[in-house]
Amino acid sequence: MKYYELAEFYSKVEATTSRIEMTNLLVQLFKSTPKKLIDKIVYLSIGKVAPEYTGLDYNFSEKSAIYSLSEVLGTSPHEIEKKSIELGDLGEAAKVLYEEKGIFNKPVLTVDEVYSSLRSIAETTGYGSTKKKMQTFISLLQKATPLEVKYLIRTILGRLRLGIGDNTIMDALAIAFTGKQENRQIIERAYNITSDLGYVAKILVEKGLEGVKKVKIEIGRPVRPMLAERLSIPQLILHKLGGKAGAEYKYDGERIQVHRKGDEFHLFSRRLENITHQFPDLIEFLKEATPDEYILELEAVVIDPQSGAIRPFQDLMNRRVKYVTRFHMMKYPIAGFIFDIIYLNGKDLTLKPYPERRKILEKNIKITDRINLATRKIVDNVDDLESFFLQAIEDGCEGLVCKSLQKDSIYQAGKRGFLWIKYKRDYKLHLADTLDLVVVGAFYGKGQRAQYFGSLLMACYDPETDQFKTVCKVGSGFTEDDFKKLDELLNPHLIDHKHPRVNSILSADMWYEPYLVLEITGAELTLSPVHTCAWDKIKPSRGLGLRFPRFTGRYRFDKRPEDATTEKEIIEMYQNQIKIKV
Ligand code: ATP
Repeated sequence: MKYYELAEFYSKVEATTSRIEMTNLLVQLFKSTPKKLIDKIVYLSIGKVAPEYTGLDYNFSEKSAIYSLSEVLGTSPHEIEKKSIELGDLGEAAKVLYEEKGIFNKPVLTVDEVYSSLRSIAETTGYGSTKKKMQTFISLLQKATPLEVKYLIRTILGRLRLGIGDNTIMDALAIAFTGKQENRQIIERAYNITSDLGYVAKILVEKGLEGVKKVKIEIGRPVRPMLAERLSIPQLILHKLGGKAGAEYKYDGERIQVHRKGDEFHLFSRRLENITHQFPDLIEFLKEATPDEYILELEAVVIDPQSGAIRPFQDLMNRRVKYVTRFHMMKYPIAGFIFDIIYLNGKDLTLKPYPERRKILEKNIKITDRINLATRKIVDNVDDLESFFLQAIEDGCEGLVCKSLQKDSIYQAGKRGFLWIKYKRDYKLHLADTLDLVVVGAFYGKGQRAQYFGSLLMACYDPETDQFKTVCKVGSGFTEDDFKKLDELLNPHLIDHKHPRVNSILSADMWYEPYLVLEITGAELTLSPVHTCAWDKIKPSRGLGLRFPRFTGRYRFDKRPEDATTEKEIIEMYQNQIKIKV
């Protein structure tokens, strides 16, 4: 298969404003892919060579890309940079420069060759790696057509900007290889327990749906996290959970999924990035406190080692550095509160009910001063729930996660459901909880803000339609530093039209590929004629908007755009708000 086919696919996806067309384009691409290439095509369709959890990244700078191009074109780096500034994108500039120089290579590059070159670039590390990476990249550029160059550059810089989501890929796989979109559910289950769409696609193509049904949890492949619904009324929480719940402290730290096999440890973040290197101290504590082979989940927090008291979330953020040193470990001592176990000694525990999983934890974890189980109380009345909630807040937590004790209280990988219900402090302060919303556009600023933006267009996620629907325009809560930081974060994701997965009535001055999630607070949710969240679902020709939105200062780097607050959650928050008012 020629890489040119993939380049044409990118170009068509880039031009489309419809998510259905995006899916169709993927279906066509998958259908024309030889069986043995399907995993590679799945990764390359989103500009990667491996699933996100492997942490394999090209680590290729814009400067290296410019020098590589300069070598092939015989043009000075300065000229290339000028063109890139003029056209606003190095990929586009490279294409134009190839055309201007009359470099019209025949499409000879194969997907195999591009994939293995990109993979070796990603795997090259250490002394002299920049030079080696450039050499490999240059040999691709020498054979590329202008269109291919454009996408090779964007791929290597991690700026493909197509915003194809997992759900779109799964829909397309189901349609292309089973003829029915409904079969996405089966594909999704396998994805939820392996987090690797390339791997699932390969099994689908080689062994069919039956093979996909047999996919199992494995140490080293993260399981997509189970998530909680939210409710703000204790009576409702208890009612929803059948009158009785396992209420656990909701620690305000970082969720970590720990995989252990002997001395081999893999730590994954909430968005399934490999963060093993960030917590060497936690690994030592776990060695002492846990069995030999398992997958479990904990919340890591910074504590005061003398008193054991939990320190603020901000302290934990100070450990989010590329290289964790002894200084970080001493200054910000970590503790882990384990709240679930998914796998133990070769056995998948996801189908066991929560009380059983908790018992397994109690039996297998040795409590130490750094490793503990989440503090928990079984509650069956509102008074107990409320007083346990206050105790959690006093102990430095965000609130509670109330968990179902019923027989069906399985570990629902990759799902947000009512088996877990979070009850947070914020619910008491505002009518609306904070929302985690995705930046999809921006409006020009005036005066001092003219060089940045005036406000950002923010959207929630609707998994049903795989779309981002707008909820508010937020212009307050940003500091001068935020403006600079946001500018840097958002610029690589600027696109020249509304993204096909964004559903918006408002016409923004700038559009972005859905990428960055910010925490937003506001006064209340109200019916809105301009926002598309919950459009026609509560009142005809009305959606839901957030009044007086404000950035809380918290960047949700731990969330992918698909992990943003969902449309369904916002509808529920709106309905609860009405209940509280009456
Ligand atoms: P939030 O932004 O409220 O942390 P989220 O989308 O990351 O939410 P939810 O499933 O909605 O995740 O809320 C549960 C989160 O709370 C978990 O992701 C986890 O990080 C954290 N947490 C803290 N303590 C617990 C606990 N005892 N049980 C489950 N989750 C816990």
